[in-house]
Amino acid sequence: MLFNFQLSTPKEGLVDITAEVTEAISESGVNEGICVVFCPHTTAAITINENADPDVKTDFIAGFDKSFPERAAFRHAEGNSDAHIKSSAVGASETIIVTAGRPLLGTWQGVYFCEFDGPRNRKFYVKVIGDWK
Ligand code: ZN
Repeated sequence: MLFNFQLSTPKEGLVDITAEVTEAISESGVNEGICVVFCPHTTAAITINENADPDVKTDFIAGFDKSFPERAAFRHAEGNSDAHIKSSAVGASETIIVTAGRPLLGTWQGVYFCEFDGPRNRKFYVKVIGDWK
């Protein structure tokens, strides 16, 4: 089953989508399998990271800004090459194991939609494959 979610994003930042992923798995009826979370945008990404201390999200963005700054020498006319690079560095998707009808995540893990060139209206897909209950 394929699920399509929409969200409004900040200028830059990580949006917790763990609840949406969990909901899609539950609605799919899949008990044991895998779930792919996919971002169809070239200046955004999907990642799994800590969901306990909100400062991790702030530091994540600050770290990526320092590692991949926007440079005047970049040729891309839209002026957002840094966001394109961050998108590929993080990746467009995550694959998550589904067990007992739930995503298999560590105690401190959450699934995040990463915005690098917002604010925008974005979407992401969740595909769930596996054995039915
Ligand atoms: Zn661009």
